[in-house]
Amino acid sequence: MTTRILIVGGGLAGTIVANGLCRQLGRELAKGAVNITMLGADERHLYQPGLLYIPFGRMREAELFREQRKVLSHHVYFHVDPATAIDVDGRTVTTASGKEYGYDYLVLATGSRITPEEVPGMAEGAHWFYDLAGARRLREALGVFTGGRIVVNVNVPHKCPVAPIEVTFMLHDFLKERGLWDKTELTYTYPIGRLHGLEPVANWAQPEMDRLGIKYETFFNAESVDPNARTVTSMEGSTLPYDLLITIPPHKGAQVIENSGLGKGGWVATDKKTLHRVGSNNVFVVGDTTDIPISKAGSTAHFEADTLVDNLVSLIQEGCMAREYDGKVFCFIEAGLNRGTYVWFNYQVPPNPVPPSRMVHWFKLAYNRMYWLSARGLM
Ligand SMILES: Cc1cc2nc3c(=O)[nH]c(=O)nc-3n(C[C@H](O)[C@H](O)[C@H](O)COP(=O)(O)OP(=O)(O)OC[C@H]3O[C@@H](n4cnc5c(N)ncnc54)[C@H](O)[C@@H]3O)c2cc1C
Repeated sequence: MTTRILIVGGGLAGTIVANGLCRQLGRELAKGAVNITMLGADERHLYQPGLLYIPFGRMREAELFREQRKVLSHHVYFHVDPATAIDVDGRTVTTASGKEYGYDYLVLATGSRITPEEVPGMAEGAHWFYDLAGARRLREALGVFTGGRIVVNVNVPHKCPVAPIEVTFMLHDFLKERGLWDKTELTYTYPIGRLHGLEPVANWAQPEMDRLGIKYETFFNAESVDPNARTVTSMEGSTLPYDLLITIPPHKGAQVIENSGLGKGGWVATDKKTLHRVGSNNVFVVGDTTDIPISKAGSTAHFEADTLVDNLVSLIQEGCMAREYDGKVFCFIEAGLNRGTYVWFNYQVPPNPVPPSRMVHWFKLAYNRMYWLSARGLM
């Protein structure tokens, strides 16, 4: 009998799971005892962290994409046919083309998406870099920026917890390089009472912003944007004027998750250690799609995916789970255009940013190139 593994979502987490399974289940795949199918929404695989560099001209668009089929092991049956309905009781997934896929194990890896439309005026009045179209528009806006008020406005939930801080420090250096810093007022806003959700990161970022002359406002939850008046107003009653508004829009999980009744907002209730969908012993959730209260990040997705691969292999070969996810996250943080730091943490150990250096910045740039090896499971 063939064990059917169905992976929905061919982004970072789904790809690492698929390739990791192929590496460890070579014998079973060769005998036809295991079959791995992936349903994706796109022929191309996007390296999302690279979007941060597009507005500053520090990466080219072509560097962010690879053909998904070439990133995947040839053992994986990959279909560009997005899931439209997931029936965990009936153990089937229906797709846009009307096909129905059965499974023995289901991996939900549909990620998250930006929803600027949730804040009135944001889609019309703001820029962002969280998708390619947004990053392109921001590159154009920065190209013609001659000085004025820039607001970096952070909304939650969002993926990559450090990208808002990174873009702020990179903006500072970018404007300085162009001789525009003295003509610019840069303000960073954050929804809670400090500059970052992770307290040690907030404690590191605040003196850095003070030193560079970057202004900030906390307890700022965007309620609306007025594109004509060029203002952004918070639920707390503060209104900031801007010439350029760079927002991290709020996020939701995939529509198919909500439509299938698998989780409000598209986030699936997930056991934080086993990565089971709560209530299903043959459905696993990995990456941004989980509702686990830790950072939604590529590294989170990667470490979860590694755990899940070991557990699925162990379930197939030995009938039991192998290990638990310990909450590990590792994030590089750009502290400007030429300096970087990093944090790592897990469920037990809090993050502790190290002093920024050129060396860490270079490591991050190197990782941007090595990502494709990591997605293939080669590092
Ligand atoms: C600007 C930016 C900077 C970032 N920087 C970093 C960083 O420095 N470090 C870091 O660790 N993380 C970073 N991240 C976050 C990281 O990219 C994500 O957390 C990571 O991609 C999550 O992986 P995932 O597989 O869960 O989701 P994704 O990689 O988003 O993959 C989800 C996939 O599911 C597909 N999908 C959606 N719906 C369906 C459907 N119905 N059927 C089939 N497929 C579907 C999507 O098309 C997508 O391919 C950054 C993100 C951005 C946007």
